[in-house]
Amino acid sequence: MSPSPRLNKLIQWLPQDDKPFVIAGPCSAESREQVLETGRQLVRLSQVKVFRAGIWKPRTRPDGFEGAGEEGLKWMKELKAETGLQLTTEVASPRHIELALKHGIDMFWIGARTVVNPFSVQELAEALKGVDVPVLVKNPLTPDIKLWMGALERIHKAGINRLAAIHRGFHYFKQSPYRNAPMWEIPIELRRLLPALPVITDISHITGRRDLLQVVAQKALDLETNGLMIESHFNPEKALTDADQQISPASLKAMLASLIVRERTGSIDFQHKLEELRTEIDKLDGELIQLLARRMEVVSEIGAYKKENNITILQLKRWKHIIEDRLAIGTNMGLDREFLLLLLELVHENSIKLQTQIFNQEKK
Ligand code: PEP
Ligand code: MN
Repeated sequence: MSPSPRLNKLIQWLPQDDKPFVIAGPCSAESREQVLETGRQLVRLSQVKVFRAGIWKPRTRPDGFEGAGEEGLKWMKELKAETGLQLTTEVASPRHIELALKHGIDMFWIGARTVVNPFSVQELAEALKGVDVPVLVKNPLTPDIKLWMGALERIHKAGINRLAAIHRGFHYFKQSPYRNAPMWEIPIELRRLLPALPVITDISHITGRRDLLQVVAQKALDLETNGLMIESHFNPEKALTDADQQISPASLKAMLASLIVRERTGSIDFQHKLEELRTEIDKLDGELIQLLARRMEVVSEIGAYKKENNITILQLKRWKHIIEDRLAIGTNMGLDREFLLLLLELVHENSIKLQTQIFNQEKK
């Protein structure tokens, strides 16, 4: 995919310092005491810039706690008046936007369940016209980068120039230690396509459990995330939603202190050496591509030859031999077996495709 020309009015609104921008607060606003007490503890952490709390909770089944609603917005407003913390909450309908604005919410996030539905995102975009607030767009539940970009574009088209993406992981059918598989390649691709767009990593919804938060936060920083969203509750075990993944403000403080923020660019010497290595990689990639092209040329010749002699495309015995032989050579040279196998399968798939094209061509 090529870079999106549509997000061309983005404003850099996150502070441009080395420290990650941290949004913290409970999964849900549950009571006046919980909001105020959690917020009072969080405001003491200098890295926490924004207080988050869900007011309307999208629950999987109908009998869970569905959020405090407008009452919760009043607690958040009181917290802001007392501490000066900026506020954010999830909005899923124009009514939510209206109520949140009325109670001084400073920025909105659009949840993963809403982002999957372009109708809902469009409705929110219409309601945001003329409203100058930052909007954070979570990734959709499914690993679909186009859907994520589409939602960002819809919101941007409505005149929102202070945007950020929130990476919160994806539903994944295979077993994984995470609640939502991070699939880091997707936010990396998003950054490539939209370099001006800040990305914030929601480590709480990725991990789903306290003990993995630190490792995932460090990984996010090492991949140059611009910020972290972390669920924090003054009494996590008693939380009404997402109790397993919330941490106390004290644990959050310790975790933030343990994170290593590495330099993004490094010294001139470092850049020099890196540039040399990158030039080497560029050269090698060029050679790899040339070799692949040459290989496919030979494949085409074989295809034509098989066709002439009325021989089938797939020669299982030969394919089996290729796999065994190349795996032996490659693993001997230190290449990962699984990686090699995937690569060989890809090459084989393309070879079959080419030969099929040749067979069909000649039928005409
Ligand atoms: C949340 O942040 O509390 C939430 C419901 O997130 P998501 O939309 O990522 O599931
Ligand atoms: Mn949550």
